[in-house]
Formats: sequence, C-alpha cells, structure tokens
Amino acid sequence: MNLAELVRLAGVVGAGGGGFPAHVKLSARADTVIANGAECEPLLHKDAAVMEHRPRDVVRGVELAMDAVGATAGFVAIKTKNQHAVETITAACTGTRVQVKLLGDYYPAGDEYDLVHEVTGRLIPAAGLPIHAGVVVNNVETLANIAAAAEGRPVTLKYLTIAGAVREPVTLAVPVGTSFAECIAAAGGATVPDPVLCLGGMMMGETTTNLDVPVTKTSTGVIVLSREHPVVKRKLTPPAAKARIGKSACDQCRFCTEFCPRFLLGYAVEPHLVMRGLGFNATGKQDWNDWAALCCACGLCTLYACPEQLFPKEACDDAKSALRAANRKWTGPTTPRPHPMREGRRVPIKALLRKLSLEDLNAPAPLRAEPLASARVRLRLKQGAGAPGQPLVAAGARVAAGEVVAEPPTGALGARLHAPFAGVVEAVTATEIVLSRSA
Ligand code: SF4
Ligand code: SF4
Repeated sequence: MNLAELVRLAGVVGAGGGGFPAHVKLSARADTVIANGAECEPLLHKDAAVMEHRPRDVVRGVELAMDAVGATAGFVAIKTKNQHAVETITAACTGTRVQVKLLGDYYPAGDEYDLVHEVTGRLIPAAGLPIHAGVVVNNVETLANIAAAAEGRPVTLKYLTIAGAVREPVTLAVPVGTSFAECIAAAGGATVPDPVLCLGGMMMGETTTNLDVPVTKTSTGVIVLSREHPVVKRKLTPPAAKARIGKSACDQCRFCTEFCPRFLLGYAVEPHLVMRGLGFNATGKQDWNDWAALCCACGLCTLYACPEQLFPKEACDDAKSALRAANRKWTGPTTPRPHPMREGRRVPIKALLRKLSLEDLNAPAPLRAEPLASARVRLRLKQGAGAPGQPLVAAGARVAAGEVVAEPPTGALGARLHAPFAGVVEAVTATEIVLSRSA
C-alpha cells in the first residue's frame, strides 16, 4: 500500500490548524518538502514540544513525504529561539536527506507564503498554493502523524498548549475529543473568574466563553484570559459595531497596509482600501473588496498596526465572504515582488507580546510526559477541510482503541475518525460521537 493510502486510512489532517487531509498533499508532485515548525502564535509551544520529544518521527515524516512526492530537498523550518528543539531536530537530521532551516522570531513566520519564501526564495503565485511553487508544506505534528501512519497507527492524540491565565501553563497530549475544560483543569485551572478562551491563539484563533468545546485534530492550544483583558474586550466587540466604527474613524493612514506581511511580500493586499470600501454602497464596495482577496487573516493589521484600534482584518474577512458569495475570483497580477522595506518592517514576537498585553503571561509551557487520561470524549464529525465523517457506530456500541468510528462519504474530501480509547458509544448526533472510556 502506498503512503498516501496509509495516511488516508490513519485519518491524518493538517495539525497546525489547517485541517487539510494529508493524503491529498502526498499525492502531488513537488521538488521540496517543508516541515512547518515556525509556530508564531504568541504563548503556544506545542510544535516546539513535538520537535523536542518526537524529532525522529518528524524527520522520518519529511523523508517519507519526500519519497511520496518525488522531492529532492526536505527541510524542518524552526525558529532559532527554540534552542532545545533545534538541537533535537538537528541530531535527528544527521545522516538523513533532511536539513534544518533556522527562522527569525517574527510574526507570521508560519504563513505558508512567508515560509516558502524564507526557505526556498520562491514566491507562491498570487491566490496559489505552495504546490504551485513546487513545494509541499506540512506542520511538524502532521509529519510525525504521517510517520506513525506508515506504521499503521491512526491519529487519536492531539498536542496542544494551555497558556495564559492558568496556574500551570502546560503542553499536553490529549485524546482527540477531550473538552477544553478538562485541559484547563489539567493546567491547574483558570486564575481569573469568567475566563474567555482564545482557541488556536490570540492572532488567528476563535474567541469563546464555552469551556465545553472539544479538542479536534486541528487544535493547537488555548490562551485563557480575563474578560477585562484589553484585547479580549476588542475581540468581543459586536461585528456590526466593528464595521460602524471603522467607517467613521478610519483616517486612511495606511499603517495597516504598510505592516501587512502579504503586502510586504509583494501581493496586492491593501487593508486600508478595504476599510475605505466600508463607506461605499454594495455596488462600489465590491471593487474595494478585491484588496482583501489575498489576505491570510493573520490579524496584524487589527491587533498590531492600526493606531486607532480599528478592525481592518475583520473588514477583510467580510470582504472575502462577499467575494466568495459573488463567486468573484482573483484576476489581478500573479507575480509578486517583495517590498524593499520588508525586512525592516517584520514584526518581532517580543513587540507583538507587548502590543497584545501578554508579556506578563509569557511563561514556559513544558510538555507533560503522560497523555491526559480523559474519561469521555466528543468526537466532532467535521475536524478539518472537506465533508464531515459519516458515523459507522450507533449508541450503545462497544469500540476498541483505534477503531474507525466515522468515515467521509465515498469519493469526498475528508478524513476518517478513530476511537482514541476502548469504550462505549454514549450518543451519536448530527455533529459528533460521544464516547466513554471502558472501566
Ligand atoms: S491603520 Fe487603522 S486608521 Fe490607518 S488606514 Fe488602517 S484601519 Fe484606517
Ligand atoms: S489580516 Fe491584515 S495584515 Fe494580515 S494579511 Fe490580512 S490584511 Fe494583511
């Protein structure tokens, strides 16, 4: 059986947040494979933990992926600041075809457009994918999962960091489907009343007050914060108010554009023009929306650049939704040229931490050796790109550890789901399978 099929059977999806089924990327042809260990969301350390504790799996995954796609070059991209992970990965690369590529501590170093340029010097064509530049990019945990899949082991555990206002910030391996409430309890509990969760990080994550959200194969961590935290207050501003304030208060200073990492790489992303569009009617607005088409939603314009504390990233999100609804595709220039000031304008993580008022919460979050022994999990049927899985089990069924419990419809893009432990199916709903561990 080839690697792509083994990876499909093991249910591997992008573990860095993307959730794209990994077997599809392994079916492409490329000359370069990059393991993305850039991990640039402030306070999250799960990729560094994977590289420290499973370096051989990561490097083995890169070599397997290189063979699958026909690549002659393979890299693990990692920030110099993660010294321990650099040492373990460097040792694991010795005697292999995989090289270490050291990165500076900038945000968003993990954006695939940024990463491909840093590692290979190439630029992905506008609106394209890494494969259009001859590159396959996978998160380091995805590659470790690919190495496990090659040995017949499915994805049942997820690495994630529990950071922010908790007693003991920690990185954990937890059964997929564990609740964030249980993860936060394992970190000693929240230190603030009415905690707000930034799932997946402050910059690109989703904000919720619901602690019962289950971990999925794409979860990377959670930052727990007080409702009074200044960034949380901004994030909780109702969407209509974000647009209304932007319409009246944007002074078109261009700072959002001048710091935009996609603009600095030479792509036609100009969030100040999207903000200008807020003042136009539906017809005129469409043309301003085009300036958001190539935005990667990194959040720098809203959370770092704008001196007025406005919401250009959210305006870009709305603009992209409108473009999708109108089925309007990118037709502008496809060959970017990096801005001459790019190097000097990149945003160091230290400066970002200051801006986000996170300096006091910037603590190590070491990996706990033993995976969390959750007693109950809620397995979301949709855990990444593509169609949701269709349940293969019913309430009351007994399942073995690693058994397939859901599968995407035949021929559809998606990923299989496996039971993380032996147990009994409590319930099957339209969106999830609930499983209790056997005594
Ligand atoms: S940085 Fe803020 S005020 Fe300046 S153009 Fe962008 S959204 Fe408007
Ligand atoms: S979120 Fe803002 S800074 Fe980031 S790519 Fe989009 S427009 Fe640029």
